[in-house]
Amino acid sequence: MLKCPYCYEHLDEHTNRCHHCNQFIIDDLLDVPYPSIDKKPCIFCGEKILQEAHICKFCHKWLDELNQTINNIDWDSF
Ligand SMILES: [Zn+2]
Ligand SMILES: [Zn+2]
Repeated sequence: MLKCPYCYEHLDEHTNRCHHCNQFIIDDLLDVPYPSIDKKPCIFCGEKILQEAHICKFCHKWLDELNQTINNIDWDSF
């Protein structure tokens, strides 16, 4: 089963643009043996997206960016 490396939605065929999240696919498609069923709410729009997703297929925001921002905070300086 081929999956988009960003939103982790299932793709039927090789494509250079994911029709779920509208991202141009630069990285390789994921080839996974089973469909993902776990979902989480998007932190931006609240829609249910796949647990592994890096991008929300509804609002197209990158969830990783927020995580990185949080991780980059130097807590020692507080
Ligand atoms: Zn996608
Ligand atoms: Zn969203």
